[in-house]
Amino acid sequence: MKVFTQIQEIRTQRWQEPLLSWGLVPTMGYLHQGHLSLVQRARAENDRVGVSIFVNPTQFNDAKDLEGYPRNLERDLELLEIEGVDLVWTPTSEIVYPPLFQTYVEVEQITRVLEGAARPGHFRGVTTVVSTLFNVFQPHRAYFGQKDAQQVIVIKRMVEDLNFNTEIVIGATQREADGLAMSSRNVKLSPEARQQATCLHHALSQAKTAYEQGERDAHKLRRLMLDVISQASLARVDYVSIAHPTTLAELDTVADQALFSMAVFVDGVRLIDNMIIP
Ligand code: AMP
Repeated sequence: MKVFTQIQEIRTQRWQEPLLSWGLVPTMGYLHQGHLSLVQRARAENDRVGVSIFVNPTQFNDAKDLEGYPRNLERDLELLEIEGVDLVWTPTSEIVYPPLFQTYVEVEQITRVLEGAARPGHFRGVTTVVSTLFNVFQPHRAYFGQKDAQQVIVIKRMVEDLNFNTEIVIGATQREADGLAMSSRNVKLSPEARQQATCLHHALSQAKTAYEQGERDAHKLRRLMLDVISQASLARVDYVSIAHPTTLAELDTVADQALFSMAVFVDGVRLIDNMIIP
């Protein structure tokens, strides 16, 4: 496994075997089974696998959140070595954003709701850094987790709109045994908050059950999810949404497919989760 910081080192390695297929897994590090499931899929579907580890400052709208983001590069590299990764890019902020940097990629409408409304500028940072990653690696396929449902929708939109020559592959959300979606942020939960953090998954599961029993009123389904979350004393809802899976417009009725998603602060730690229905 080769680990490089400089763009030219990644490019040289990438183009040494130009006929082979490349899969890329972009990450912010502090890796868990959610990331590794994407790496495993990339490993199975490509000749070569690249991983980026970069805590991207432009997608954080809160300096404290950026500063406190968990990091452990040594352990991350050990895990990636075990998975048989070929190439890892660990750039510095100065490499991705040199002093004269002033070019951003922005997807419009669908980034203004949900995570985009709660975290202004977040998706501009995401689409900009993903564009940089795609230009540096030029991967045939790039792997993203369903855990970040809106991110997936935004990146697919960007790739289609700007004709990036990369196939976007989506991996299922990996969960702890009690249903909590794996996240690098979970380490910030106190033991009590960790227990209560299952309220996101419980809310989604109960909404799914209600849907399966025939409930189609999105207002009632949202209310049901809010009621479940309100039973967790440390939880404070940021948003609970039932939206169209492409336009992200809020729905009155769940007719065809719908994205059920939420962001909840549990003891101050912001967690997100979602499911696609049916
Ligand atoms: P991050 O390091 O949080 O930026 O995540 C890197 C990639 O891993 C993103 O595509 C995430 O959607 C994905 N990911 C994070 N958590 C999970 C999870 N629990 N299951 C599946 N994919 C995940």
